[in-house]
Amino acid sequence: MNPSLVSSKARALTPYTPGEQPQDKSYIKLNTNENPYPPPPGVQELLRDYNADMLRLYPDPTSKRLREEIARHYNVDIQEVFTGNGSDEVLSFVFYAFFDPKNGPVLFPTHTYSFYPVYCTYYGLESLKIPMEEDFSINLDSFNRIEEFSGAIFPNPNAPTGIALSRDQIFDFLRSVRKDRVYVIDEAYVDFGAETCSTLIKDFPNVVVVHTLSKSRSLAGLRLGFALGNPDLIKTLFTVKDSFNSYPLSRLSQELAIKALEDEDYFSGMREKVISTREKTVHKLTERGWTVLPSKANFVFASAPSLSGHKIYTDLKQKGILVRFFNHDGIKEYVRITIGTEEQMDTFISTLDALYSK
Ligand SMILES: *Cc1c(COP(=O)(O)O)cnc(C)c1O
Repeated sequence: MNPSLVSSKARALTPYTPGEQPQDKSYIKLNTNENPYPPPPGVQELLRDYNADMLRLYPDPTSKRLREEIARHYNVDIQEVFTGNGSDEVLSFVFYAFFDPKNGPVLFPTHTYSFYPVYCTYYGLESLKIPMEEDFSINLDSFNRIEEFSGAIFPNPNAPTGIALSRDQIFDFLRSVRKDRVYVIDEAYVDFGAETCSTLIKDFPNVVVVHTLSKSRSLAGLRLGFALGNPDLIKTLFTVKDSFNSYPLSRLSQELAIKALEDEDYFSGMREKVISTREKTVHKLTERGWTVLPSKANFVFASAPSLSGHKIYTDLKQKGILVRFFNHDGIKEYVRITIGTEEQMDTFISTLDALYSK
């Protein structure tokens, strides 16, 4: 191809590599942190009854009804809610809106969601990895040692470690930080046992909390994420969105998301099942001599004595089970295992036994 056909910006990109979504055969998928349980029944009913004629019309570009529903759930005002096509899109707008390349690098922990450095490249931002504790927990004090930076982001619980900080730890940290920089807390996994910082946006006008319906609400295929923050920050996110795509959320997505949020009972039941299966899995892995980091997410990050993460990943794949391996220095011994159904996790454990017990 003639290289002049591609912009220098596009040539400089390094895309994110998502976990495998194989189409060739059916695996037990424990690699992309999807929820093993179906979305709430109301979602299925709405799909069955949906009047397709509505799709002639453009959706509400401001997702007003959905944002009202989110605001109610998180005890915030509608002006404090921004919605997007998956939290990946929301995060992309957040990086564009709040991190200024001229102020220095974006700060995030050494081992974290590997999309963050990808957004940095996309928007011409430098990044700086903040060292973690020996036990892989996030060290917030280390963020404060950096003087020149454009903003900071970390997931809570962190990925791929699953380790959570408490709301108090985050509150104390936020009291100590620069008021002229935005701090983003990515709560993709918070519903599986960590404490949400959603209402801290009332105390701190420089804090954005990002959520997704992909994990705890079983709707990875819907693509629905949202950000909570001070009304001025949220207004800026709308400006960015409306300079990119006025209608990132379809009519159907908006309505399905409202349905999904309404069913609190189904949600807590499902969440408890995942947590209980996680605890059993941790127990069984530990019994077998594995090291398992303390997880408040719907996955565990674990390593086996004298096996590399890559070997575990390949052996399991051959047996029809997908887990996630990260070829990054410092975590190559580990695999990230999504919590599936009880039955899937039983198969996972018996497969490990067949592979590795002598
Ligand atoms: C899964 C994940 C996301 C992205 O979620 P989507 O809403 O599906 O785009 C964001 N942040 C972290 C840390 C995640 O693990």
